[in-house]
Amino acid sequence: MMDVIRDQYGRTFRTLRVSLLSHCNFGCVYCVAGEEELREWNEAPDRGLGAPELLEIIRRLHERLELETVRLTGGEPLLYPGLAGLVEGLRSMGIPRIKMTTNGALLERKAALLKQAGLESINVSLDAVDEAVFVRMSRRNSVARVIRGIDAALDAGLSVKLNAVIMKGMNDGQVLPLLEFAFTRGITIRFLEVMAMGHLYHHSEHYLLSRQDILQLIGERYELTPLEREPAATAQYWVTARGQRVGIIANESEPFCRDCDRLRLDSSGRMYGCLSSDHPIGLGTAETAAGLEEKLRAALAQKQDLRFTGSELSMLQIGG
Ligand code: SAM
Repeated sequence: MMDVIRDQYGRTFRTLRVSLLSHCNFGCVYCVAGEEELREWNEAPDRGLGAPELLEIIRRLHERLELETVRLTGGEPLLYPGLAGLVEGLRSMGIPRIKMTTNGALLERKAALLKQAGLESINVSLDAVDEAVFVRMSRRNSVARVIRGIDAALDAGLSVKLNAVIMKGMNDGQVLPLLEFAFTRGITIRFLEVMAMGHLYHHSEHYLLSRQDILQLIGERYELTPLEREPAATAQYWVTARGQRVGIIANESEPFCRDCDRLRLDSSGRMYGCLSSDHPIGLGTAETAAGLEEKLRAALAQKQDLRFTGSELSMLQIGG
């Protein structure tokens, strides 16, 4: 039995987030500055690593780290060819939990197949239920298609959560409508503070609606009681008097770096130990055990002590 790789805060890697490709069919305002930046990403020759190569890299990481969760993301993971086969491959190597983060646009057709392949749960990014605001946030229509995807996922038996990035002056009027939507379907929703990443690196504070602001908006309609934050969780949860849960991912107001257990892999098979690192660590299928060990320790050393200080990388590249 090998030693667990740990840093001075006791942190290790148990969760792997894999960005399957940096292409996306949405152009969300927090990811890209506009259509031109999106086109640059989408026209870059990135079709992602093929599933066999990706599975081999993940197998090596799982062997060393005993991963508990693999989350597939991007870019948009539903654009990855052979996604169901990839999920089956992860399931057969014994990864306990396989999850995905998606914008949901292609979910209606794919939810049942992915569930059958072994996907356990999905987080759907939904920043508005009002079509005009949805278009403002994603630069695409239509919210109805995403909602059909969410319903298909629920019907297929997938566990579903919603994530909404709330930006001041953009979609802050959607907090209560999103909450009502989630409560009506019995889905947990989490609101995210906007992060200083990519094109927002230098001016995200202009759009920041803080955890306190979000709680105040929800407090206008619901009485909330805070729950204890779970170890390594990104979200803190509150519960309403009727037992409905709502979460906030407050990267700015309440950083959660101190027990972070996440390792990231981009679509070229490069590792990042921290969302704030723009020093990818290349990894191949032919890595020796000693080489892998050294690289994992270097990735762990990338973790920041206490708080995220921003990154010029877009989540489109490093994986949200
Ligand atoms: N395309 C998929 C989706 O829409 O869920 C997966 C990738 S996308 C990068 C994942 C999520 O990252 C977004 O929905 C959003 O929640 C989060 N994200 C990206 N940039 C962000 C930022 N600057 N601040 C906060 N969250 C961000």
